[in-house]
Amino acid sequence: MHKNAFDNGQIKIGIMGGTFDPIHYGHLFAAEAARVEFGLSKVIFIPVGSPPHKQSQRISHPEHRYRATALAVSSNPNFEVSRLEVDKSGITYTFDTMKKLRSIYGKDADIYFITGADAVLELLTWYKFKDLFTLCRFITVTRPGYNYMELEQKIEEISSNYGGEILCLEVPLLDISSTDIRERIRSGKAVKYLLPEEVEAYIFKNGLYKE
Ligand code: ATP
Ligand code: MG
Repeated sequence: MHKNAFDNGQIKIGIMGGTFDPIHYGHLFAAEAARVEFGLSKVIFIPVGSPPHKQSQRISHPEHRYRATALAVSSNPNFEVSRLEVDKSGITYTFDTMKKLRSIYGKDADIYFITGADAVLELLTWYKFKDLFTLCRFITVTRPGYNYMELEQKIEEISSNYGGEILCLEVPLLDISSTDIRERIRSGKAVKYLLPEEVEAYIFKNGLYKE
C-alpha cells in the first residue's frame, strides 16, 4: 500500500493522527483542507492504539475505531487508513510511528503531521518531542476554542527553542468533537450530519457509546 506512493518522485504526505472515537467531519475536513492547501499527495489516517494522554479514560476498542475510520475515508481517493498504531501493543507514541514512517518513505519525503490547534498547545508534553521535530513538520488547523495569540506564541516558542516547524492553516471552524458525539449518542440526541453516515451506521450497529 505505502510503496506505490514513490511513483511520482518527491512525495508530500499528510498524517492525520487521532483517537477517532469516533471519527467525524472535523477530522475529515481538517485533513482535506491541509491536503489541498499544501499539495499533499495523500493523507494517511492513523488511529492511535493506546494514547498516552488518554490512559485514565475509557476508549473504544482499536478495531472499532480503525474500522469506522476506514469507512469514513473510503470515498476519498487521496485518503488512506493505517493499522500501524492499532496493531502495536502498549502505549503508542507519535515519535515511534514517525520513525516507522521515515523508514518506509525515506529521509527525503516531506511528512506533515496534521493536528488541530488544541493539540499544538500540548505538543511540548509529547514523548521525545524534540526528536519528533527532526522527523516531520506540522500543519495545525484552527479549531473552535482556539486563541490566535496563544497559538502564534506557541508556534514561535516551538520554532525558536526547538526548531520545530509548524504551519498554520485557518479553516472554517467546525464545532464538532468526538466527546460531544459520544455524549449525544448516550443521551439520544441527533448526530446525523456531524459524521459520515457509514460511521453513524457502524456505531449503531455495534452499540457503541450507549453508556
Ligand atoms: P475527543 O473529544 O475524544 O478528544 P476529538 O474530537 O478532539 O475527540 P481527536 O481524535 O482527539 O478528536 O483529535 C484528533 C485530531 O483532530 C487532533 O489533532 C484534533 O485537534 C483534531 N480535531 C478534532 N476535531 C477537530 C475539529 N472540529 N476541527 C479541527 N481539528 C479537529
Ligand atoms: Mg481530542
